[in-house]
Amino acid sequence: MTTVRTRIAPSPTGDPHVGTAYIALFNMCFARQHGGQFILRIEDTDQVRSSTESEQQIFDSLRWLGIEWDEGPDVGGPHGPYRQSERADIYKKHADILVDRGHAFPCFCSAERLNEVRAQQMADKQTPAYDGLCSHLDPDEAQQRVAAGESHVIRMRMPTEGVCIVDDMLRGKVEIGWDRMDMQVLMKADGLPTYFLANVVDDHLMGITHVLRGEEWLPSAPKLIALYEYFGWEQPVLCYMPLLRNPDKSKLSKRKNPTSVTFYERMGYLPQAMLNYLGRMGWSMPDEREKFSLEEMIENFDINRVSLGGPIFDVEKLSWLNGQW
Ligand code: GLU
Repeated sequence: MTTVRTRIAPSPTGDPHVGTAYIALFNMCFARQHGGQFILRIEDTDQVRSSTESEQQIFDSLRWLGIEWDEGPDVGGPHGPYRQSERADIYKKHADILVDRGHAFPCFCSAERLNEVRAQQMADKQTPAYDGLCSHLDPDEAQQRVAAGESHVIRMRMPTEGVCIVDDMLRGKVEIGWDRMDMQVLMKADGLPTYFLANVVDDHLMGITHVLRGEEWLPSAPKLIALYEYFGWEQPVLCYMPLLRNPDKSKLSKRKNPTSVTFYERMGYLPQAMLNYLGRMGWSMPDEREKFSLEEMIENFDINRVSLGGPIFDVEKLSWLNGQW
C-alpha cells in the first residue's frame, strides 16, 4: 500500500499567517492518522516577495504550535531541504519536456503588448486572457529565437472545449469549463517557474499522495490537472479546505482580525489553545467537545467531519478557549 504523504507549501512572503497554520494542522493530522508523512516545502520562486526572514518565521510559528514536519528545510537526513529557489534546473527540465511534447510554447510577447491586449479585452467587456499569438509560431523558429537568447516565458496550452472535472474530497465532482483557463505562464523570463509548474512537479517528485489546500485554489485546479495529464502522472487526491473567514463571513483579513501567528504568540496565547482553535475551524470532534489536544485531534481525525460552512476565525472565541486551558 502507498504511504500517505501530505505537505504544506507556504510562500515566505510575509508574516506567518494563521491560514497557513490551519492548513498545516489538517495536513499533519491526515498524515499522522494514516501513519504517513507530512512534509514542508518552501515555495519561494517569487524572488521579489520572498525573504529568508519570513521563511524563518514560518518555521518558528509552526514549531511554536507544535506542528512538526518530517522532511524539509531545517530537518537533517537524506531528504530536503525543499526550497523551490534551489530547484530551478528541475523545473526547466520539465518545462522543456512540455515544450517538446507540444503542450507548452515559448512566448515572446512584451509587457507592452500584453497590456494593450488586456486593455482592449476589458474595453470589449471580455475576460482578460492571453490571446494566443505565440502559440501559433512555428516551433523550430521559436526554438531558434530561444537559442539566440531572446527574452521569453513558457506558457501552457489549454484545452478550449468541454469541462474539467475536479474530484474534491469535500465537494465531490466539481465541473469547471476549460474555456475559463488562461494559457498560464509556467516559466518566467527570469528562468524560475510559476506556482503551477513548480507545485505539480514537486508534488509528483516528492510522492505527495493527498493535497489539502485552501479553497482559494479551486478555480485554478484545472491548470494543475492539465499538467498532470501532459506529464502522464497520476494526480494526488485533492481536498480544498474551506477558507477562514471574519465574523461577517468575508475572507479573513488583517483589518478585522490579526492574522499573524506571531501576534498571538507575543500576546501570550497558549499554543495548545491556538492549535485547538484552529482544529475547530470547520471540523469537530465526534462528541462535539470544544477543548481537545493535538493528540486527541489526530486520534479522532476524520476528513469527512470537515464542513464547508466557512469557518469563522474570531479572536473573542479564541480568547474564550484560551481561558479553558
Ligand atoms: N505556495 C502556495 C501558497 O502559498 C501553495 C498552495 C498549495 O498548497 O498548493 O499557498
